Amino acid sequence: MLRIDCPWCGPRDETEFRCGGELAPVRPEPFDRVDAATWRDHLFVRANTCGPHAERWLHVYGCRRWFSVFRDTRTHVIAATGPLDLPPASVVSS
Ligand SMILES: [Zn+2]
Repeated sequence: MLRIDCPWCGPRDETEFRCGGELAPVRPEPFDRVDAATWRDHLFVRANTCGPHAERWLHVYGCRRWFSVFRDTRTHVIAATGPLDLPPASVVSS
């Protein structure tokens, strides 16, 4: 079982959280001028990364806040967690 360090509550068991998928997808803009293929890719195509990966998680049985998790998908080792709008500098610079 993973121990995930919520930025607001501290370390908790994985069962308190829900994974919300990749952190990276950014909504294409302007939305009314985006073609169908771009919307399809935005909604359904994911990188399925093998290795270091940025994800968003929800602390559903805690503070109910979303945050970022930087996890290696091969080993499940979590390098860092942080607020969605402020990725940890140690992860961004590497
Ligand atoms: Zn929390």
